[in-house]
Amino acid sequence: MRLLSSRHAKLALLLCMPMLAHASTFELPALPYAKDALAPSIDASTMDIHHGKHHQGYVNNLNAEVEKDPRLAGLSLQQILEGVSAYAPAVRNNAGGHFNHSLFWHVMAPPVEVGQSSDALSAQIVADFGSMEAFKTQFSEAASKIFGSGWAWLIVTPDGTLQISTTANQDNPLMDTVTPRGTPILGLDVWEHAYYLNYQNKRMDYIAAWWNVVNWNEVSQRFALTR
Ligand code: MN
Repeated sequence: MRLLSSRHAKLALLLCMPMLAHASTFELPALPYAKDALAPSIDASTMDIHHGKHHQGYVNNLNAEVEKDPRLAGLSLQQILEGVSAYAPAVRNNAGGHFNHSLFWHVMAPPVEVGQSSDALSAQIVADFGSMEAFKTQFSEAASKIFGSGWAWLIVTPDGTLQISTTANQDNPLMDTVTPRGTPILGLDVWEHAYYLNYQNKRMDYIAAWWNVVNWNEVSQRFALTR
């Protein structure tokens, strides 16, 4: 098969662009495991509704916003978040919702697949929090204290250190409206839709069980990408 010349490839790309502008820009990512794979920490019904209804809703609403605001055409999710103050509140909520949940599914895994924190990540956790146990305690406490709906994060700050932060609603630390800013490498959803079917009002029990499915292989990889 003959490869297209670079000029032809560019032309083909240009011809595709009007079509792309009207296509659904963002799509619901498939779960990287079966819906019951995180049980008993997270039950299959919660996963089903959370992924299939809530996350799909954020994707649909974000695509509707992209149709409305031509400035959003062709931007990546990260680009939208980094400049989110310029757009409608619905962009902030739904671009945030899409990003946050896409990260959330991947920083969890069935307990037999979660692995361990890499040497580099473990060393940074010890440097910034004292120990892995101290980190988990501080993170759990921050997540338990979020008033209403929101997220707890482990972020890599611009100076390369680790920090625990929390955000309200579907905000996240990539947004230009949020402090502190940084690259999230672990996130925990504490909206009631994330746990209420199984845990009702016992958010702390959900948080404690969630640690069993934190995918340290993935978190370590995300940390390595920031170095
Ligand atoms: Mn959620």
